[in-house]
Amino acid sequence: MNGQTPAIGIDLGTTFSAIAKLDPSGAVMTLVNAEGDRTTPSVALFEGGQAIVGKEALKAISTEANSIALCAKRDMGSKVFHQAIENKQYPPEVIEAFILNKLRNDAAAQVGYVSKVVITVPAYFDEVRRKATQDAGYMAGFEVLDIINEPTAAALAFGYQHGLLGKNSAPENILVYDLGGGTFDVTIMRVCGSEFTTLATDGDVQLGGFDWDNRLVDFIADKFVSEFYADPREDICARGKLWRECEDAKRTLSLRQKASITCDYQGLSKRYEVTRDEFIQMTQDLLDRTRFTTVQTLNAAGLQWSDITRVLLVGGSSRMPMVREMLRQVTGQEPDTSAAADEAVAMGAAIHAGNILALSAGNPPSFQIRNVNSHSLGVIGMDPATRLPRVGVLIPRNTKLPARIRRKFKTQKNNQRSLLVQIVEGESSSPDNCTFIGCCKIPNFPPNLPAGTEVHVIFQYSPDGRLKVEVQIPEANTEISQEFTRENNLSKTLLDGWRQYISNEPPTDYQ
Ligand code: AMP
Repeated sequence: MNGQTPAIGIDLGTTFSAIAKLDPSGAVMTLVNAEGDRTTPSVALFEGGQAIVGKEALKAISTEANSIALCAKRDMGSKVFHQAIENKQYPPEVIEAFILNKLRNDAAAQVGYVSKVVITVPAYFDEVRRKATQDAGYMAGFEVLDIINEPTAAALAFGYQHGLLGKNSAPENILVYDLGGGTFDVTIMRVCGSEFTTLATDGDVQLGGFDWDNRLVDFIADKFVSEFYADPREDICARGKLWRECEDAKRTLSLRQKASITCDYQGLSKRYEVTRDEFIQMTQDLLDRTRFTTVQTLNAAGLQWSDITRVLLVGGSSRMPMVREMLRQVTGQEPDTSAAADEAVAMGAAIHAGNILALSAGNPPSFQIRNVNSHSLGVIGMDPATRLPRVGVLIPRNTKLPARIRRKFKTQKNNQRSLLVQIVEGESSSPDNCTFIGCCKIPNFPPNLPAGTEVHVIFQYSPDGRLKVEVQIPEANTEISQEFTRENNLSKTLLDGWRQYISNEPPTDYQ
């Protein structure tokens, strides 16, 4: 551990974010924000191009919903946030950068200047979303040391707090069930001494507590419509107010059998009661989706339930009693809730940051993380039979990282001067059902190469799940510095501009 630079970890959540630090003494703790809370709502209220982030922004949802960005993490990887704010289209990573900048400033007030951080991402995030998260960190003025998967961070925090790191204790196969505000991840990890190895991971980046909230919103709004013929969902502020009521009621239903929700719209007001059983019924399919994924992940890891030594619950939504009950039934064991559901991920990220800083200071690492890729990597080619575009998988999902594969292409004609490789992630053979990561336009081939000259393209996943591409033409003894053009990412010029604007930090040689 480096005594000078605090080791900082950030859980950039869909609905709440947290920042933690690892002390030189080895104590790990989440830092309180300027409002005195350990978690910060991931909500930004825009006023004249500047953002107010957190609790204050959330309060404005019933009056200024058009100026508020909610759940921007769900849009990561897209070009722009799904809703214009103050008539401006923001890239989602820019909104995330404003949120990160608030965390940075609040942390700095306690620990001094903060620069180097580890940020967490859902294990199921694809390459494009991972890069967007790193870019958000850069624009917020950070140097992002690494991105780490949320369940890995949670397992690290668990191992650290239970003194498992570096001990010769019996190996554990931990299933991490992480249901947050907007994403769901399930990961099976083997923890053996100081090695944390991901065996399999799966999830859904469009499933989280927010979906449970929305079921309640629809349930109440439908009742209101049938009584008053007026739909609060049609007005963005009325909907925002109802959503807050419902999110609150959802938390109550984790503790009690019933909760009440007030719906106000067009001068009309009505208080409704919802029971836990009704709530369970209206959200059963959502829970079933997580059950299905959990079972699939166990199969992908090649394990039986009897091999799982611990079921670790993380993410605020794992507090819902039906989640615990479902996991009891499926796994046959009592889920472990000892990890602080909202804080464990940030803590794990800080522990990982401490490990990286220790390494860079020449100290031995306290643990090692071995990861897998959560999506298959492929290139788009032509199916010789149908002559339709088809995905050829290069690196199947759940392959141990780092992974490197060389693919040979051939030039089609004499004196061909370039090649275009289209790269996707996903499990379908149809390109339309995969995520387009980008194009590798390989220009500047040496002149006069005959048709059929081999071009080697080397795809490499680094341990953080990020992709690098290299190109070689062995016959011409040439290595070409390729251009990997990403689909929806911001240019370096834009990143630098936003970094200056949001965080007032100068550009660096970040790529
Ligand atoms: P996270 O992203 O892990 O902070 O999780 C946030 C999500 O957890 C939000 O959807 C919250 O509404 C939800 N949540 C937090 N506490 C509870 C609770 N006691 N019962 C049900 N959901 C909760």
